[in-house]
Amino acid sequence: MLPERVETLVIGGGVVGLTVARELALRGRRDVLVVEREAELGRHASGRNSGVLHAGIYYAPESQKARTCLAGNRLMRAFCREKGLSLSEAGKVIVAREEAELPVLDELYSRATRNGARVEWLDEKQLAEVEPRARTRQKAIWSRDTAVVDPLEVLQALRADLEDRGVRVVTGRAFLGRAGPGRALLTGGTVAYERLVNAAGAWCDLVARPFGLAEHYRLIPFKGIYRRLKPGASFDVRGNIYPVPDIRNPFLGVHFTRSAHGHLYLGPTAIPAFGRANYGLLSGTGGEALPLLLADATLFFRNPRFRNVALSEPKKYLPHYFHRDAARLVQGYSPELFEAATKVGIRPQLVDWRTKELVMDFVVEARDGAVHVLNPVSPAFTSSMEIARTIVAEHFA
Ligand SMILES: Cc1cc2nc3c(=O)[nH]c(=O)nc-3n(C[C@H](O)[C@H](O)[C@H](O)COP(=O)(O)OP(=O)(O)OC[C@H]3O[C@@H](n4cnc5c(N)ncnc54)[C@H](O)[C@@H]3O)c2cc1C
Repeated sequence: MLPERVETLVIGGGVVGLTVARELALRGRRDVLVVEREAELGRHASGRNSGVLHAGIYYAPESQKARTCLAGNRLMRAFCREKGLSLSEAGKVIVAREEAELPVLDELYSRATRNGARVEWLDEKQLAEVEPRARTRQKAIWSRDTAVVDPLEVLQALRADLEDRGVRVVTGRAFLGRAGPGRALLTGGTVAYERLVNAAGAWCDLVARPFGLAEHYRLIPFKGIYRRLKPGASFDVRGNIYPVPDIRNPFLGVHFTRSAHGHLYLGPTAIPAFGRANYGLLSGTGGEALPLLLADATLFFRNPRFRNVALSEPKKYLPHYFHRDAARLVQGYSPELFEAATKVGIRPQLVDWRTKELVMDFVVEARDGAVHVLNPVSPAFTSSMEIARTIVAEHFA
């Protein structure tokens, strides 16, 4: 049964919705209802990501990503310790595949220090001590504070924590639209609210539109596919090995991640997808394939950085290209040790349609008692608890 009225209605039971609800509860506001459209939590980005708690390295200083990532990392790690959840604290290295990447590696180091992140330079000999397989040119960045969690465990623990605090998390109910000022139409009835939080992830723009927001954004989904080390095989990667990314785009490049349970993954890609839930080759397009193709075509001609992604990423459906990227990060890479992983995620990336530029930062907009978390792309999992603190401090005073 849905209540007739709540103080705060949270749309979306991903990590952003759950952490905002928890932050409200921590501050004594327990009359909160979280509604999740799917039958279970974690069906979308929050349950399908790499589980990496990033450590504030990549982001332009002053950005919301820079402001929230490191603090979010610390809060999430403390939560995992408190709840006894899986947590790997093996750190990560960022390596240069060619000399031409060294200036960007320097820029990453500079951003990291300006963001307050703990990073160190490693020469090739020191790198071999940390990650014997990793290869680089001259030097690499070492981030001790990068950690890895099990995202589904985190979601379940957040839900249990909320329920212990008296907050209801209801699955199988969707926000369908507004039913007048301060009233939401949900599957199964209407609910009156004083405040609403839009944490609908890949559907954030659709939830925001009835509130008169997000009109100049288009949401372009990018598919992340992974490969993983075959069961029984071994390959000596101890933590996480990342390449130098193209920092003009929001993607980090195919990398090695050792999961919180010790499994070795490669990926994810950033392939333009045909739908917000297009996890299979053609399934989950939600009737959006054609408009998305048209939008992709427009971006292809208008945005050279998108064009690079569109030309290079889809090839990685073919194992050859995937393996080629991986082999540039480590010595002695053997494609036959890796197999396609079942994990597939979709990154819902906003594009500002006025400029045709990919939006690089998180966007939080508020109007008429509703707060909308738009563009919750990576590292929003890491940042979520700090994003939640900021939202509650700024919008629930
Ligand atoms: C492949 C991949 C790898 C990533 N790796 C990392 C990483 O290593 N580290 C990191 O920090 N970040 C990573 N990210 C990003 C991270 O996963 C996301 O930033 C984060 O999970 C976003 O959380 P969310 O709650 O906003 O979205 P979601 O998890 O998508 O949650 C939104 C929820 O809202 C629900 N919903 C939508 N519409 C409605 C509606 N109308 N009514 C009710 N419910 C609705 C959806 O069903 C969904 O469950 C990765 C993402 C991907 C795709």
